[in-house]
Amino acid sequence: MKDKFAQRASLVKSSETREILKVTERPEVISFAGGLPAPELFPVEAMNDACRAVLSEDGAASLQYSTTEGYIPLREAISKRMQDIGIESTISNILITSGSQQAIDLTGRLFLNDGDVVICESPTYLAAINVFKSYNATFVEVDMDEDGMIMEELEKKLQENPQAKFIYTIPDFQNPTGRTLTRERRQRMIELANAYDVLIVEDNPYGGVRFAGEALPPVKHFDTENRVIYISTFSKIFAPGLRIGWVCADEAFIDKYVAFKQVADLHTDSFAQRVTAKYMELYDIEAHIQKIKAVYKERCTQMLSCLEEFFPENLSYSKPEGGLFIWVELPQGIDSAHIFSECLKNNVACVPGTPFFPNGTRNNALRLNYSNMSAEQIVEGMKRMGDVLHRELAR
Ligand code: PMP
Repeated sequence: MKDKFAQRASLVKSSETREILKVTERPEVISFAGGLPAPELFPVEAMNDACRAVLSEDGAASLQYSTTEGYIPLREAISKRMQDIGIESTISNILITSGSQQAIDLTGRLFLNDGDVVICESPTYLAAINVFKSYNATFVEVDMDEDGMIMEELEKKLQENPQAKFIYTIPDFQNPTGRTLTRERRQRMIELANAYDVLIVEDNPYGGVRFAGEALPPVKHFDTENRVIYISTFSKIFAPGLRIGWVCADEAFIDKYVAFKQVADLHTDSFAQRVTAKYMELYDIEAHIQKIKAVYKERCTQMLSCLEEFFPENLSYSKPEGGLFIWVELPQGIDSAHIFSECLKNNVACVPGTPFFPNGTRNNALRLNYSNMSAEQIVEGMKRMGDVLHRELAR
């Protein structure tokens, strides 16, 4: 029966990290592998109030089908948040999606023909790679340094690929590297996109989780020709299980996104949208985000000091000012998949870096997540990982 699948069914394999995460779910494993927010920070009690308020005030409407664009008070609240970070918008620029993952998928559907070129950071977010692969895209990777995508490299790639459809970028605390694009580079990216007539897809789930350093405006803030499609989510600042994300873009783009969103799932969960809006009406989400930042800052600082203390000296690693991840680069010739399996034998897990390179070009890096483990677990897990690295690098 396998011959019944469409050709595109072979374009995406079951996500490698999902397979990895399965192994790391054993209770004895200290896992830095996933990308899960800290569940103890989810506002369960407040959500209890918000749910009750929605059901008693909105009644059946909260359980009914609703519009594809999304619940107006939620779009208004998001539009206000956009304003606060330097993006001019009205609700006509906002579409609510089922997580930002759906926004990425709709982006692929709307813009990618077979073989179209997507320009992206090297490495980049695995599930976006899989989305664009499912539309048969070709990837052109642009090297990064600690300041994000290197603009001279980007320009070179744009010259070599004049038909490129869009630049896919995660400018803040990138997944998987934790790196942030500087203000100057954001401006330069816009200049280059204008000059070479490509779109920019700004995937920005982590910008709201800055716990150190100075906040930077999103790439879309510098957009002069409405060519940036900004995508974000409540997953990291509130609760990922609600699956509430959004697209903020030019109205002409939003109209098309709405048409394709309708095809995909009619609309995002009405109840979840109303509850999210109600939570923001009844509670101070900014105060909640401050709590998340304080905890992630502590965990990130803990992990960085463990890196210093327990890991071999000849490794380089990112020093994030927000988000969920640290990226560790191992010496050339060290295979991260081997390190991963040795770590697992010692009941500690990370993600090998290879799948984050769409063209599979490098295999000597690891992604570490610090949001989902306590400070004590971080110390113990980093000791175990440090032992493995000392042993393996000494071979
Ligand atoms: N983009 C990036 C860069 C991510 O890391 C994630 C989640 N890990 C997403 C998008 C998707 O998030 P969600 O669908 O929960 O909004």
